[in-house]
Order: sequence, then C-alpha cells, then structure tokens
Amino acid sequence: MSSEFILEMRNITKEFPGVRALDNVDFKVRKGEIHCLVGENGSGKSTLMKILSGFYPYGEFDGEIIFEGKKQKFRNIHDSEKIGIVTIYQELALIPEMTVYENIFLGHEIVHGKFINWNETITKAKEVLAHIKPDLDPSIKVKDLGVGHQQIVEIAKALSKNVKLLILDEPTSSLNEEDSENLLKIIKNLKEKGITSILITHKLKEVIEVADSITVLRDGKMIARIDNKEEFTENNIIKYMVGREIQDIYPKRKKREFGEKIFEVKNWKAYDPKLERYVVKEANFYVKKGEIVGIAGLMGAGRTELALSLFGNAKDYIVEGEIYFDGEKRKFKSPNDAIKAGFAYLSEDRKNTGLILDFDVKTNITLAGLNQLKRGLFIDENKEVIVSNQFKEYLKIKTPTVEQKVMNLSGGNQQKVSIAKWLFVKPKLLILDEPTRGIDVGAKYEIYTLMNKLVEEEGMSIIMISSELPEVLGMSDRIYVMSGGRIVGELGRDEATQEKIMEMAVEY
Ligand code: ADP
Ligand code: MG
Repeated sequence: MSSEFILEMRNITKEFPGVRALDNVDFKVRKGEIHCLVGENGSGKSTLMKILSGFYPYGEFDGEIIFEGKKQKFRNIHDSEKIGIVTIYQELALIPEMTVYENIFLGHEIVHGKFINWNETITKAKEVLAHIKPDLDPSIKVKDLGVGHQQIVEIAKALSKNVKLLILDEPTSSLNEEDSENLLKIIKNLKEKGITSILITHKLKEVIEVADSITVLRDGKMIARIDNKEEFTENNIIKYMVGREIQDIYPKRKKREFGEKIFEVKNWKAYDPKLERYVVKEANFYVKKGEIVGIAGLMGAGRTELALSLFGNAKDYIVEGEIYFDGEKRKFKSPNDAIKAGFAYLSEDRKNTGLILDFDVKTNITLAGLNQLKRGLFIDENKEVIVSNQFKEYLKIKTPTVEQKVMNLSGGNQQKVSIAKWLFVKPKLLILDEPTRGIDVGAKYEIYTLMNKLVEEEGMSIIMISSELPEVLGMSDRIYVMSGGRIVGELGRDEATQEKIMEMAVEY
C-alpha cells in the first residue's frame, strides 16, 4: 500500500546525559512537498534530523523510521544516503582547498578501474549544476566562493547522489537576503522535479514563503503540524513555538529620564594598518546613563570597527580622538583596561572570540571577572558555582548544570552565557554587537527583556549595534546611523523610521 507520506517517524525519543532532546515525537512528510521544521533553539530539530540521517544509528534512540513504506534501520549516514536521504548540515562540510567538482563527487568519486575519471567528473558536475546554478564554474576552488555559493555546491553534491529527500538545517542563517532568496528558489525548483525537502529555519518569513506544511517542536515535543496555508502566519507559528502569545516582540519600557552622559566620543578615527585604510573616518556621539543607543548601518559601515577601536584594541587599530568615560578623559591601552573602567563589549562573532566552547558554562561566565573569585592566591570554586547558578536562574539559561560544556548549548543559550560573562564584571556601559543574530524569537524576546531590566533597574547604559532595523527601532532610545566609516546622522525614538535610517545608511 503506497502512502502519501514519503517519511514517517514514529514515537521518536532521544536522550543525552541530563536532557531528553526528543520526547515521543511523531513527524511526517508528504511526498514532493517542502516541509518546514521550526522551533526555538534547543527544541530538538537538529537531533531529529540526525536520527533520520543515521548520524545517531538505529538502537541509539527509541521509535521507528518509515521511508517509502519500509521500516529503516540506518547504521550510519551512508545507509540513509544510499536510499536517497541527504542532509546539508548547519556547518558546511566542504573542503576549501578543493575545486567545486572535486567537492561535489567527494566520497562517491566516478572511477574507471583504479582511477578517478576527471573528465566525466567535470561533465557530471556541470550537469548537476545546470539544474541550480548554470553559471557557476566547477573548476573554481571552494575557498574562493562566498557562503551562498558554497551552499549551492552542497546542494549540487546532494543532487549528484540521487537525492529523494533533501534536509537543510538552517541553510540561510549565514546568508544575506539575496543568497537566501536564491537558495529558496532552488529548493522550489527541486520540488518541481519531485524532490521532497525538509527545511529548518528560524526565519519565519521564509517558512511562510516556501512551506507546504509545517511542524513545530518545543522542548523536544511535537507541538503542532500545520497543513492549512491560512494558518501560516508569524503570530500563529510563534505562539506554537514559545507556548504563549507574544503581542509585541519588543517588550515595552517605561518612559524614563536619563542621567548624565556616561560616555562621549569626540572626533574618533581608527586606521587599520592591515587594510591600510581608515575603517572609522569620523565619529562623534554620546550615551547617557540608563539609555539604550542603537547603531544602525549597512554591512561594512564600520560599526564593529568603531566598537573594537573604542574598546582598547591597540594592536589592531591606530586611533585618534577623545573618549570621555564616567566623567574622565580616558585612553584604553587594552581591552582589559577598558573592562577595568567598567566598559564591556559583547562581540558579534561569539563562536570565535566570545566564548570558549570547549569549557563549561561556569568557567565561561566567570572568565572575565576572575579577580572577584580570588581567595588569596586561589580561585574560590564554591563561589564560582554559586555565582554561575545565580546567572543561570537570572537569565534562564537552559542547561542541566553549569558544568555542561558551552558547545552543547543551543545558540540562544550560548548567547545568554556570553551576556552573563559580561554582566559578571558589572559594567557601566555594555556594547552589544548583533546580540540576537542567529537566535530564535523566544530567546530574542528574553534578551530584549533583559536589556530593559539592565537599563531600568541597574542603571546600566547600552550601545546596541544591529543590522535588523525593526530591532533597532524597537529597542533604542536614540539611534545613530553609520555609513562609510562615519556617523552620519542621529534620530530620536519617536522620529525614527526604517526609511529615514536607510536614507542615511546608503552611500552615495
Ligand atoms: P535545535 O536544533 O532545535 O536547536 P538540538 O537538536 O540541537 O536543538 O538540541 C536539542 C537538545 O539536545 C538541546 O537541549 C541540546 O542542548 C541537547 N543536545 C543536542 N546535542 C547534544 C549532545 N551531543 N550532547 C548533549 N546534549 C545535546
Ligand atoms: Mg539545530
């Protein structure tokens, strides 16, 4: 008996030490559809897909997988690929030094006798690419491609394996608008050819655009399957994801009077000796006590460079200009110097510079403020545990214990750990650089709520750098716009609109 479903996963339960990642999940996908799988970070999406792909083999989970009407017992990824289930992972698995065609056929090379047939490989690579990106030259090295094109190579690789069910785990989270649009178009084209896709994304706009049906997971449980297109609205999906209605994604702040200027920057310039040019050409701005100041601008406008150069990164930038902090003229010789003065910077790129993923939660939280834990020559380990648990409570960090390695936490929870790390040093001024990039709506809402609490209750001041205009508008008391290395404009909360910001942000 043939079923309309190409895939049925029944009663799937998967435990890790201390967490039940999946709890009796039923998941079904129709033949030929684009099925979107959504849920907050940590809700179990990737784990479910790793079970489907055989990454977690049969026996390491409870429940069953039916693919094309047959019960499957995958021992590894190879088993699932053999019958047409191919996954493109969150972290790309390409070899940068190899060409596009070598990557496409890596692991399933076209051989004649003992040797790889390169001519045929190139021809086949072109054939596969013709379906999705005809103008991409297969002999280019992958390292010379942008992320958008690298994703396309991954898809080409999947197609070369005769894929029937393509799984994409957050493929657009590192892509810009244009590349994301292209990728979605490709997935839609594949659908025309009869290929079924499962798409994981936290961008609800994309879900609404491409989905034929949607499954929502929350805390490892299957919460809803939405088939009716009329129910594909952001509000509806968010409600299922977070388990409550969020009226307003940006929590309201009380109307407040601000204190005196805590931070002022005059005639600031930063020269990058590696690039041999000024990355910040002119910045004049201030922040008052208790204020959230947004810095908007396009990619490359110099926002992160402004923050880093102010933060005492003397090795990377030659700076000119004046900083007044907490009533005094200051010159920060190093980030440590800035931290001591009460200035903290939460970096945009938390994977590379923010956290040590291999270390546990408590070590990461206390790393920048170890002097507070010193007892004589030693670190007071009891205090370390107590303090980290306080932050775990305060920020609702989802982890079984503070001894968990940070790499086992979801993106949103990793972000909370980096915020905790900076809160522990009790800064007067906190710079948050793209604080909600790559995290889901629920965690975003919690971070916004926390920002409000910090300025309202702790009298902290915040500079928020963000590329998401709704976020800048929703959270800032005042907004500066950067363009081409300069602060080119200032807007008050009440006068600011997306159009006004964009007008200032584009370079002429
Ligand atoms: P999602 O993809 O929806 O963000 P995941 O499937 O990655 O969520 O994670 C689900 C839950 O399982 C989370 O609580 C996560 O911390 C936990 N988890 C995932 N992988 C591991 C692992 N290898 N070891 C321990 N816990 C894990
Ligand atoms: Mg995931």
